[in-house]
Amino acid sequence: MSSGGCSIVWFRRDLRVEDNPALAAGVRSGAVVAVFIWAPEEEGHFYPGRVSRWWLKHSLALLDSSLRSLGTSLITTRSTDTVSSLLDVVKSTGATQLFFNHLYDPLSLVRDHRAKEALTSQGIGVHSFNADLLYEPWEVNDDHGHPFTTFTAFWEKCLTMPYDPESPLLPPMKITSGDVSRCTSDTLVFEDESEKGSNALLARAWSPGWSNADKALATFINGPLLEYSKNRRKADSATTSFLSPHLHFGEVSVRKVFHLVRIKQVLWANEANKAGEESVNLFLKSIGLREYSRYMSFNHPYSHEKPLLGHLKFFPWVVDEGYFKAWRQGRTGYPLVDAGMRELWATGWLHDRIRVVVSSFFVKVLQLPWRWGMKYFWDTLLDADLESDALGWQYISGTLPDGREVDRIDNPQFEGYKFDPNGEYVRRWLPELARLPTEWIHHPWNAPESVLVAAGIELGSNYPRPIVEIDAAKARLEEALSEMWQLEAAARAALENGTDEGLGDSESMPIAFPNDLQMDIDNEPERNNATTVQHYEDQMVPSMASSFFRVEDEEASLDLQNSAADNRAEVPTDLNVYQELRREVVNPGHMQTVQINGILPQFNDSTLILNGENSTAESSSSSSGRGVVPVWSPSASSYSEQFVGEESGIGTSSSYLQRQQQSHQLMNWRRLSQTG
Ligand SMILES: Cc1cc2nc3c(=O)[nH]c(=O)nc-3n(C[C@H](O)[C@H](O)[C@H](O)COP(=O)(O)OP(=O)(O)OC[C@H]3O[C@@H](n4cnc5c(N)ncnc54)[C@H](O)[C@@H]3O)c2cc1C
Repeated sequence: MSSGGCSIVWFRRDLRVEDNPALAAGVRSGAVVAVFIWAPEEEGHFYPGRVSRWWLKHSLALLDSSLRSLGTSLITTRSTDTVSSLLDVVKSTGATQLFFNHLYDPLSLVRDHRAKEALTSQGIGVHSFNADLLYEPWEVNDDHGHPFTTFTAFWEKCLTMPYDPESPLLPPMKITSGDVSRCTSDTLVFEDESEKGSNALLARAWSPGWSNADKALATFINGPLLEYSKNRRKADSATTSFLSPHLHFGEVSVRKVFHLVRIKQVLWANEANKAGEESVNLFLKSIGLREYSRYMSFNHPYSHEKPLLGHLKFFPWVVDEGYFKAWRQGRTGYPLVDAGMRELWATGWLHDRIRVVVSSFFVKVLQLPWRWGMKYFWDTLLDADLESDALGWQYISGTLPDGREVDRIDNPQFEGYKFDPNGEYVRRWLPELARLPTEWIHHPWNAPESVLVAAGIELGSNYPRPIVEIDAAKARLEEALSEMWQLEAAARAALENGTDEGLGDSESMPIAFPNDLQMDIDNEPERNNATTVQHYEDQMVPSMASSFFRVEDEEASLDLQNSAADNRAEVPTDLNVYQELRREVVNPGHMQTVQINGILPQFNDSTLILNGENSTAESSSSSSGRGVVPVWSPSASSYSEQFVGEESGIGTSSSYLQRQQQSHQLMNWRRLSQTG
């Protein structure tokens, strides 16, 4: 142990000892104090959901155990003000330097900037690094130095950068510990008693922690990667990498993923293995989407709350909490959608295909505000990640320049036969439809009465009729789009006449979350239970003891006319969903114990107003190269782009936009809300 002059390494979503540039630099400069600060109230509405907190708990335990084996331990601090907690650690350890890795969500950008200012003003050296991306957002620009606004152009640029992403670093051989004798470590509470039972099942499928992430990566690269291209659209099979929660918490570095996959790419190219090459390209594109989500968040910090395309702010969303509830509960009457929502409820996981199906149904058929869906995903997904979540929902809603066509409605019946041709996925998650023949499994409302009777189905009783007919949804969407364009034209005219502040300048707030999506910060339970903000029971994974049986929901369900048998269906007990996902032996590792000090201070609901007229941010950093805190700053010049067609997925141009010449501009939001 060394005293004085040590360095603090501040862990956040980089919970690994391998390829961790901040840790490596801290170790190089001498004795290290490793710190994790848990201040979830700072996240506002985006307080982490139950399953995400479960993951974090186990990930931190594993990190602590790895740090201990290297010579130090992880100091954990419960806080409501991260920056003052950092200052406290500096004071109690006599540290002279702070090392951390960059994050790109708006809250972190603001917080990290504050931290840097506060610490440097006290004479502490602050050094920060890229550990989350192949390239920093400000490194990837078009020929005019502007950030890209379409994924394809962005990704092409990444793949043709004049320099490769840096090679991954090995873990340190050993760490000299700084003096932590005057530093208190809080035992963090991530779940309460009522959540523990639900969470117990998760460990049957998932193994958080950096070393487990490493194993999951190796398993994927040496197995399913080869057929990723062929299999990745099979909604009901374990053919993708399942790396997303590991990547979210930084348990594995994206640079390591990239390098290992590139090695396979070279190998398969040498062997003329076309299928392998195609798979690698597609998998790297998936990694590229994750990169792009951070890029978008950095350049458009409101992307989790406002549409990127200006005209979409005039879209008349259907603000209907009943629809919202039916969707959450998997009671829309569309089997593929309902199966997906029940899987999400039960496991915290959804295949990308099914995420697309349920989100598209949400915004195009129900026409609910996309942010509600995004927030529900945030609360329930095991891999909840603000940037990827926002990118996914904006893409599906058609609020991105290269998103899906805004007038496109997918029919869940046809998608059902495409992604679940034999109806196995639906039967697994909707036991009430288990005996329905495949011919009708994705559209039970068309089945002859005799077939329904034989299958034990009474529509409107033990399974709902479609909540909204697809034809009615199409008609409503057309009307809504026409209203949107009228409103947009009126606002434009008002702007031209000088009677309005401007299209891109609106201070109007996004549609509020329904009550059961609101974080109950003011009524937070006692500090000792401070992690529990239970806002809806229907996200609870059933406990081990109760198997997969659900508690009935007492509130009226949306199948309003048919509420007699409106119980939430039970998930079948013979499911083996967790084993199915599982490729690794679970090693939950060292668990943390429970204790929290102090009382809950007020959440600071401050709003940062950025200077300048145009909010299309110019990527910048406080100095170039490594060791800088990224700073969000508004760009000096405004620009808009003609969005040109490309092939498929994100990066597909919207021919709808090409037909609609009115407004193709990115929103010029000026306000960066810190509370979501
Ligand atoms: C509406 C919607 C919401 C989403 N919300 C999230 C979220 O909260 N967190 C999250 O990690 N992903 C989200 N995604 C993206 C994607 O569905 C998941 O990353 C993927 O299903 C995770 O499975 P995997 O790790 O096996 O992926 P793989 O197919 O093996 O891909 C490898 C990695 O690439 C990244 N990736 C793949 N697709 C995307 C994508 N479309 N956008 C961003 N990154 C991608 C992930 O980090 C993933 O782990 C969302 C997609 C949609 C359509």
